[in-house]
Amino acid sequence: MNAPADPIEHGTPRGFYQHRKRNDPLCQPCRTAYNADRREKRQRAQGATPSQQVWNKGRVGEPVEAERMPTGRTCPVAGCGSLATEPRPAARMVRVVWPDSREPGRWYCPGPCRAYGLALAEVRAIGDSRG
Ligand SMILES: [Zn+2]
Ligand SMILES: [Zn+2]
Repeated sequence: MNAPADPIEHGTPRGFYQHRKRNDPLCQPCRTAYNADRREKRQRAQGATPSQQVWNKGRVGEPVEAERMPTGRTCPVAGCGSLATEPRPAARMVRVVWPDSREPGRWYCPGPCRAYGLALAEVRAIGDSRG
């Protein structure tokens, strides 16, 4: 025996799917709840990736100042971008190593060069996972 009307949980993400399953016109509370739920999940997924944390220095939602980042290759500091297998080129240089990246570990100046190195290594890692 088929129950003709199973109650819809209006105003919840579940209600959205219940509308759809019944071929019912969507009501506004269900639409709002579904959109809010999706937005929240998307934000949570973005906040969870370590790359996002590094990229924004942990402050999710802030614009990235990409244009102020030097390309690394144009950095005048000797040893900036050299392989981490070599001895530390200068006292303040930091080693940048990204796990699972084809980009080898390198020495960079602290600050923008380091951020560039991280971004570069991360891009290589993403390209790797795509094949
Ligand atoms: Zn509804
Ligand atoms: Zn540098």
